[in-house]
Order: sequence, then C-alpha cells, then structure tokens
Amino acid sequence: HLDPLFAKARGDIEVSFEFFPPKTEKMAATLWDSVQTLEPLHPRFVSVTYGAGGSTRERTHATVKRILEETDLTPAAHLTCVGASRDEIDAVARDYWDIGVRHIVALRGDPSEPGARFEPHPDGYANAAELVAGLKRIAPFDISVACYPEIHPDSGTKSADLDNLKRKVDAGADRTISQFFFSADAFLRFRDEAADAGIDVEIVPGILPVSNVATTRRFAQTCGACIPDWLNHMFEGLDDLPAARQLIAATVAAELCGQLYAEGVRTFHFYTLNRAELSYAICHLLGVRPQ
Ligand code: FAD
Repeated sequence: HLDPLFAKARGDIEVSFEFFPPKTEKMAATLWDSVQTLEPLHPRFVSVTYGAGGSTRERTHATVKRILEETDLTPAAHLTCVGASRDEIDAVARDYWDIGVRHIVALRGDPSEPGARFEPHPDGYANAAELVAGLKRIAPFDISVACYPEIHPDSGTKSADLDNLKRKVDAGADRTISQFFFSADAFLRFRDEAADAGIDVEIVPGILPVSNVATTRRFAQTCGACIPDWLNHMFEGLDDLPAARQLIAATVAAELCGQLYAEGVRTFHFYTLNRAELSYAICHLLGVRPQ
C-alpha cells in the first residue's frame, strides 16, 4: 500500500492535530514546541481537548487562546456536557466565539472517575447531539463530533450507535472525527454503514501513533477500541528500547494511513499526545510537507 504513496508524495492529503492542555510549565513548553514543529505542515485545524469531568475548562481555553494569538493555526476547542449547566456551557461557547474561535469539537464527555456512568447535569445538555443543537443556536460554529468505528461502549448495537451519530449530524455537525482504531477494515466498514444510514458529512479517521502499547490498552478499555494481537506482538521485547518503539509506531501508523488512502481517504486527524515527532514523521511519509 505504501510504496506508491511514498513514491509520489501526492500532496492531496489534509491533516489535523489534537493536543491536550498542559498541567505544568514543563508540559506547556513541550506542547508549544510541538505546536511550532507541526505548524509548517499547515493543518486544517489543531484541536485542544477538554479534560474528563470538564476538569480543564480554563486550561483548554488558555491553550486555544494562545494558539489563536501566537500562531496562524486554526484552533478547535473541545467542549463537553459534563458537570455544567446549559447556561455555563453556552457562556463558554459565547466567549470562544467572541475571541474568534470558530470551530468546536462537541462531545458528551465522560465522568472524571474512570468507568463511571455518565449522568447529565440536571440543567445540562444530555448528550452531544443536544450540545451541537445548542451551539448552533449561539453562532454558526464549524462543529466536529466523535464517532466510533468499533462502537461506543454505551451503545447497545451498531445501529443505535449510527442512529446517535445521525442525530448529531441532523443537529448540525459539520464533520465527524473517529475514535482511534487499528483495523483499516473496521473504519472502512463503518464509513460504508454510515453512508447507508444517510450520514453525509466527512468522516475523518483519528490516528493514534502507538509507541506504548500498555498505555494504549488502558485507553482502549474505556473507549471501545480493539487492540489487535498483532499490535501487542509488534511491541514485544521492546520495553527498554524506546527509539525502536518510535520507529515501529511510525511504520504501523503510516501503513494504516496508506491502507485508508488506497480506499479514498484524504483527511487524517492525529492524536499527537503533545509530541510532534511521530505525527510529523507520518505526515512526511504521506507527502504532507512544510509549505
Ligand atoms: P454522544 O454522541 O452523546 O453518545 C454517547 C453514547 O450515548 C452513545 O453510545 C450513544 O448511543 C448514547 N446516547 C446518546 N444520546 C442518547 C439517547 N438520546 N438515547 C440513548 N442513547 C443515547 N472526552 C472528553 O472528556 N474530552 C475531550 O476533549 C474528548 N475529545 C474527544 C475527541 C474525539 C475525536 C473522540 C472520538 C472522543 C473524545 N472524547 C473526549 C471522548 C468522549 O467524550 C467519550 O467517548 C464519551 O463517552 C462520548 O462522547 P460522545 O460525544 O461521543 O457522546
């Protein structure tokens, strides 16, 4: 899959990058270094997550504002329904609009205790579809929502999961970004099923370059993503060889992107974990170069 892609470096791929808000000065320096490294690749947008339980409202806001003020990048602010009334969430959204943020990634969110069930705030938005509708009432935001090629754990069936995505699109979502996955087939099947269900927005694959399979397994348990045996096998014996793990991470992710590219996918969203190197290397392999 990759050879023709590598050889031609066609320049027809568009990317976006996801960051999380830093907790410390040191983490802020790492994040900022990564933002500056990735900026020349001209991503469509760079998104900043909102901590579980709504815990990073100020830090998310500050990071988005800094990106807006100090770079030429288009920031996308993640916003969740957790632990806040509609009025509070609406106020955050209005504030974003007022400072010039036009793109929101609208999510239901998860409680801060891992594994706990989501309970809507008594005066809050009950789910992401309601949040999308609320945001569109405030201003004509560009809105991305989440989707799950391997089904969200709270969805009983695949069709319930697709119905939920359809509700988000009908409420005004402009695109959907997927949870990470390691099977191109799972994503492509999902893309077909979404099209059959009348979901007509862009479905952007979320690519997680994995250099630590144990951490990824912990993430995957809570979010309905499968870690295939071959991926576990790929990292066996490399616990003490971080550089080798990085090289394998780039190869595995680029191969996945190559398989998706061969099936017509032209946009990719990278979960950078605030580190630029892997995402930069994969983009380079895909022909995404500084402009
Ligand atoms: P929803 O689309 O609202 O759906 C969640 C589940 O509830 C689905 O299974 C759905 O079927 C069910 N459901 C919803 N409404 C109904 C209804 N009316 N009746 C019956 N069932 C219903 N989390 C964060 O905390 N911060 C982030 O910044 C963040 N960023 C993310 C970015 C991406 C690209 C992705 C894929 C996920 C992100 N998440 C984030 C995780 C996300 O918050 C969780 O996966 C959460 O559990 C679901 O959010 P959602 O927006 O998909 O929820």
